[in-house]
Amino acid sequence: MIDYHLHSNVSHDAVGSLLEHARQAERAGISEICFTEHLDFYPSEDGLSCRTIPTQPELDRYLVELRQAAKQTPVVLRAGVELDYKPEAGRWVQELVDRYSTSFDFLLGSVHNVDSLGISDRDGAMRYFGERGPWQGCLDYYEVVEKAVATGLFDSFAHLDLMKRFRPENGELMMQRELRDRMEAILDLLAATGTGLEINGGGLIHDPREAYPSLGLLRLARERGVAILTVGSDSHRPETVGRHVADCISLAREAGYGRVWTFEKRVGRAEAI
Ligand SMILES: [Zn+2]
Ligand SMILES: [Zn+2]
Repeated sequence: MIDYHLHSNVSHDAVGSLLEHARQAERAGISEICFTEHLDFYPSEDGLSCRTIPTQPELDRYLVELRQAAKQTPVVLRAGVELDYKPEAGRWVQELVDRYSTSFDFLLGSVHNVDSLGISDRDGAMRYFGERGPWQGCLDYYEVVEKAVATGLFDSFAHLDLMKRFRPENGELMMQRELRDRMEAILDLLAATGTGLEINGGGLIHDPREAYPSLGLLRLARERGVAILTVGSDSHRPETVGRHVADCISLAREAGYGRVWTFEKRVGRAEAI
């Protein structure tokens, strides 16, 4: 078993040290975990500078601590980040990825915000969809996701249908007409850039009660030639490492996939499932 999406206390919203996570993975019989710590960009209003959370010294410390933790466990520990893409931070995202290109094992792309409104927090999502309506809200979200995937910077892309988290009905909506066309364009872009698609077990504990993405979307991804799949729990504490990863793998099989991928120094390797 593997888990390629989890957060330790290096992330601002998670608890438990790297080693505590490794120990729990060991107890749960998980052979390999990849930490995907949040990496968020905040460009200044004048557009001249950009700060990140964590800061670069903190990122460097994370990489050192991970190497130390790896010596104390038989579990394979991989160093990753979940990079929250914002188009207005594009230049700084590119710079940081270039600087750390050989330091990280895995770069997971994601979009949590559109125009500074958080799709993945309840208040932000309510305001966002309240102001734009579900249709336009989904279209605007896709536009940012499309820009993120087009950069070709990421090894895999996280929770592609996150906009159903606080609006489960959006899951149905996105398979209709124009929205489906836009999603197909994103899937084509994933395939063309060699970017993977993540199956994220977090949706199974959130309101939609289905993984991100849904089985329908996963089947569509396969039809459109998305070859690389990664799986992760999106756990934010040690006790839930590996949660629902087995369900994600079942879903992958159901959609016709026969392999999932792991990464070392950004080089992917397929494993049969
Ligand atoms: Zn996320
Ligand atoms: Zn996450």
